[in-house]
Order: sequence, then structure tokens, then C-alpha cells
Amino acid sequence: MWSSEVPAPMTSRALRPLSVAIIGSGPAGFYTAYRLMDRLPDAMVDMYEKLPVPFGLSRFGVAPDHPEVKNCQDKFDEVAASTRFRFIGNTMVGGASSFANGSGTPGFKPNVVPLQVVRGNYDAVVLAYGAESDKTLAAAATTTTPTGVMSARAFVGWYNGHPEFQHLEPDLTAGEHAVVVGHGNVALDVARVLLAGMVTLRHTDITDRALSVLATSTIRNVRVVGRRGPAQAAFTNKEVRELMTLPGVTYVPPPADVLAPLLDRFQDKTALSRSQKRLLQLLQKKQQEQQQHDDHRRPSFSLDFLLSPSQFIADADNHVQAVEFDRMHLDGDPVNKHTSARPTGQILQVPAAAVFVSVGYQTQPLAGIEHAYNSSGNRLFHDLGKVGSGLYAAGWIKRGPIGVIAETMYDAFETADTVNDNDRRGWDGVQATLGSALNWHVAERELGKSHMLAVL
Ligand code: FAD
Ligand code: NAP
Repeated sequence: MWSSEVPAPMTSRALRPLSVAIIGSGPAGFYTAYRLMDRLPDAMVDMYEKLPVPFGLSRFGVAPDHPEVKNCQDKFDEVAASTRFRFIGNTMVGGASSFANGSGTPGFKPNVVPLQVVRGNYDAVVLAYGAESDKTLAAAATTTTPTGVMSARAFVGWYNGHPEFQHLEPDLTAGEHAVVVGHGNVALDVARVLLAGMVTLRHTDITDRALSVLATSTIRNVRVVGRRGPAQAAFTNKEVRELMTLPGVTYVPPPADVLAPLLDRFQDKTALSRSQKRLLQLLQKKQQEQQQHDDHRRPSFSLDFLLSPSQFIADADNHVQAVEFDRMHLDGDPVNKHTSARPTGQILQVPAAAVFVSVGYQTQPLAGIEHAYNSSGNRLFHDLGKVGSGLYAAGWIKRGPIGVIAETMYDAFETADTVNDNDRRGWDGVQATLGSALNWHVAERELGKSHMLAVL
């Protein structure tokens, strides 16, 4: 018996391609598109990107002397070549940004499309727009920031050609000493680019402008300063070893009285991961080698621990000349990675003609879905990537601004699979939702050229 109550089958999502909008064209956006298009051979993907060109931080973040990391872009090119994929560049989804309020490179303004307009026109929308601002540093917030102090994010964007940062013009000629605040991999990238030298950088895709500014740089000594100890550092061993062995650069270990108590008996600790043990072994070995750094014209790199910046000291021209740090004390086991630090009351001034603040990235909540972010506003609440009806998240906006490209890929795959499993699937979805609650039997028949469903 045919029922007049049967939903019109031709409007069922099961019978037409899934239309997906992805907001952001970094690794998270592209790996989500790849997985969706691979698993759903009829899915149509539109990717919205505020910049004129794709690939996010794999293009504008990854250091120019690490070209192998950018190989992921070959896969992204394959995705982009599909007739089921469309790249909509120069188009920002959501609220204001530095472009919209005019602080970006003059003359460059993307179109702005409200999120609800996008949501109203697709079966699924995947937010993959990363983290586009800086975590704030109390020292920077309490003083008028002198010139010569800059965000590492801006500096990285500048040397990689990001349109938002081409006005930066960093002054690297005010002295020999630079301080990088933070113990993450971005801090190490910045230190390496400052110290790498022209022979290395000339063979990379760093911008010509950055190359010419770095060629005149007078920076010789770069101190990368963290507020906790080595067991709590966020950088990885490969990156720190690379800096310690940079040709022509001396690694200067921290003073023995600072490091020794932090490394004491770490070998006995079973709670440490293998990579933490390796880092501590490396620091101990380098400490024992105890390199002399008598020739101060030779470039040097050092790691400082247990120093938290309290203020920037400026000269009469308001250019930074030193950073004042609180000496910190670990509040518990020195080799537990979660141990926090507190000020000892002692102060240390470190000379600095340039300061790079590298304390992490921060996301900007999109207008209309502010309630969907955690209290620090740097990631979305989600269930396996699902944020709400027809709304998903992938990459840094989903996990918070940490993780390398491989982690971002797995994370994007999880979200794509959730879109695939969860999204509005028309009649298939109705059956899946109600399951055995209703006593029905469905037959699918070929009738002329269209598919008709009969509830029997
Ligand atoms: P992103 O790569 O930031 O992509 C987000 C995209 O969204 C950007 O293109 C942005 O322009 C766009 N966008 C933002 N807002 C909007 C909007 N409102 N509308 C439309 N588009 C928007 N990982 C490694 O494995 N190896 C490395 O060597 C390495 N180096 C790194 C160096 C730096 C400086 C940084 C910060 C990270 C590095 N990473 C590295 C980590 C890696 O870059 C991230 O894991 C990855 O890029 C996160 O991908 P994502 O797509 O979530 O964000
Ligand atoms: P990160 O890894 O989160 O490191 C941030 C650092 O800043 C930490 O040492 C943190 O110390 C410190 N910090 C935070 N707030 C501070 C404050 N108020 N005062 C002083 N220090 C503060 O961030 P990131 O370096 O920006 O890197 C982001 C992600 O990209 C990471 O996952 C990183 O691995 C990845 N990345 C990878 C590569 C690579 O693979 N080569 C290169 C670049 C970036 P606390 O721990 O004490 O908070």
C-alpha cells in the first residue's frame, strides 16, 4: 500500500550530494576536505579563505628553512584539483579582523560573509579557521610596549610573506642581544631564523624583503627564555638539537646553579616520557661540555629557565633595551611536566635590543556562536568535531592552538568522519534516528527514472 505520508524522496539528502562549506584553508581545512571527498564520492566542498591564497600556517607559519614540512601542500593541491572542490579566496567568514578594521597591509581587504548566511546554504559547515591572534603577556599589558618588542606571530608572518604583516619593518639593528620569551617551537623557529645566516636563508622561500632586513641584522646573541624548567618546556628535542648544532653558532648553557637542581636525579623518574628524558639528557651533556663563549662577535644561542617577564625597559627614545624578569621557583617536583612556578622575589635584567614574545597563539570567537567556545575563548566545545546542528570544527579551533600538522590531520579526519556519520541524511537519517521505535518496513524501487520509497 502506498502512503501519502511518505516524505518526498527527491529532497532526501541521500539522493543528492552533501554540500559542505569549510571555513579556513590551512591543514585542518584541506585534510577535512580530503577525507570527506574520499569517503563520500559525491560530496561538494566550498572552502572559504580570508587570504587570497590557501594553506594557512603551512605556508605562512612553517619556517622557511624547513621546506620538507610543506610537502603536505602536494596533497592539498590534489584536493584543489577536483571538480567537486571550490576555493573561495579573499573572503572572510564571521566578524571583524585586523583586515576589516584596516590595520592590515593597506589596500588589502577581504570580503566579509556572515556565518549565518553560510550556514543557511550548506548541509554542513566546518570551522577550520585556526588561531589568528596572540596570547597576551602581563608584562606587555602593564607597560606601554616600547618599539623593538614584537609578537613572534607577527615576525613569523612577516618573514613568510603573510599579507597582514608586511608593514611590520622589524628593527634588527639596535644592538647585539635579542630575547625570545617562551619555550615553544615557535620561539625556536624565531631564534633559528635570527641566527641562521644568509648562506642558509638565501636558499629558502623566505621573502626578499625579510632576507634584506636579516642581512643587515646586528643581532648576535639570542636568549630563549622560559618561565618554568626544562621538564616543562613545550619545544621538541629535534628543534632544540638543531639550534644547538647550528653552524657557526655557539650554544651557551644556563648557569650550573640554575640547571643542576632541575636535572638532579631525573634518570630515576619513571613518570617522564622518553622524549622528556632525552631532552634532559641532552641538556646535561651540553652542560658538561660547558662551551666557552669568550668571542662575543660569534653568534650564540642560550636557553634560560625559571624567568618570567615582568616589564620591558626602554631607552630615552622608547626603544627596548632590556627585559626585567622575575626569577621563578618550581612549586613541586622539578621533573614533573605539570609543575607550576611562582616568583621568588628576585629580579634579573637581561639586555635586549629586540624582543620577540612567543607565548602562544589565540583564537578569535566568531560572531553569533560566542557561547560555543571555552572560557579562555581559544577552542570550541565539540563532540568528535560536532559543535551543533550542521556545524563542525577541525584543527586548532577544535583542539586549541597546539599540535603539529600530523596531529591536525588526524583531528581533521575525525571531524570529517563525524560529518559523514552525523549530518542530515534525509530519509536515511530519519530511519537511523527512530530505528526500531517504529514498526516499518522500507522498500526502495526503481520507478521510471526516479527512486521512490515505499513504506509498507
Ligand atoms: P591554520 O593553519 O592557521 O589555518 C587557518 C586558516 O583559516 C588560515 O588560512 C586563515 O587565513 C584562515 N582564516 C582565519 N580566519 C578566517 C575567517 N574568519 N574566514 C576565512 N578564513 C579564515 N607543524 C609542523 O608539523 N611542522 C612545523 O614545522 C610547524 N611549524 C609551525 C610554525 C609556526 C609559526 C606555527 C604557528 C605552527 C607550526 N606548525 C608546524 C603547526 C601547524 O602549522 C598547525 O598544526 C596547523 O597549521 C594548524 O592548522 P589549522 O588549519 O587548524 O590552522
Ligand atoms: P606552545 O608550544 O604552546 O608554547 C608556548 C610557550 O609560551 C610555553 O613555553 C609557555 O610556557 C610559554 N608561555 C605561555 N604564556 C606565558 C606567559 N604569560 N609568560 C611566559 N611564558 C608563557 O606555543 P607555540 O610555540 O606558539 O607553538 C604552537 C604549536 O605549533 C605547538 O604545538 C608547536 O609544537 C607547533 N609548532 C611546531 C613546530 C615544529 O614542529 N617544528 C614549529 C613551530 C610550531 P608554559 O608552559 O609555562 O605556559
